Amino acid sequence: MRIVLVGPPGAGKGTQAAFLAKNLSIPHISTGDLFRANISRQTELGKLAKSYMDAGNLVPDEVTIGMAKDRMEQSDAAGGFLLDGFPRNVSQAEALDEMLKDEGMKLDAVLDLEVPEDEVVKRIAGRRVCRKDSSHVFHVTYTPPKTEGVCDTCGGELYQRDDDSEETVRTRLEVYHTQTEPIIDYYKAQGLVVTISALGKVEDVTGRAMKALQRQEAPQ
Ligand SMILES: [Zn+2]
Repeated sequence: MRIVLVGPPGAGKGTQAAFLAKNLSIPHISTGDLFRANISRQTELGKLAKSYMDAGNLVPDEVTIGMAKDRMEQSDAAGGFLLDGFPRNVSQAEALDEMLKDEGMKLDAVLDLEVPEDEVVKRIAGRRVCRKDSSHVFHVTYTPPKTEGVCDTCGGELYQRDDDSEETVRTRLEVYHTQTEPIIDYYKAQGLVVTISALGKVEDVTGRAMKALQRQEAPQ
């Protein structure tokens, strides 16, 4: 299956993408990983992307699209893929359609993870990260440390990253509404959108997503 995963920041997209890709035996292609891989291997696109980033500018769509195209042409993606973080606006979605059409392929589903806005803010703004090891992550409500402000794992100090402040989250949501959300309507017109609630336990969300994708895959 060829799937695009969309959802606001804080919807648990990365986690769901990893589980779904494993269940469906297709590669999880995230924009973050694409950038990291191209930059560390110093590909032409990687060097180009880095030059924009170093200058503090946004990487143009063509560069992101080029990286995505290279990745989708690798042999492990022949049977399908799950895209996460791409396309992030309508012009990228149009470019993706073109790219697939050239290869005689098309998307099977666009999985839309739905989370109420207040829940997103609560999820992200409640996050606390360990100063000694950023993989030690807690949440003031959902997974609180035994002692407030202290990491259970190593005793390090817990803090809130600037990215996780309520103000930053609201700004990121605004960007999502204006730039990414329009792709949902774009794909709805193609009958590809499957919306599920991203609330509840991680495994429950994965189960719901799998069921919804199977329904989408079944002949109509
Ligand atoms: Zn720690």
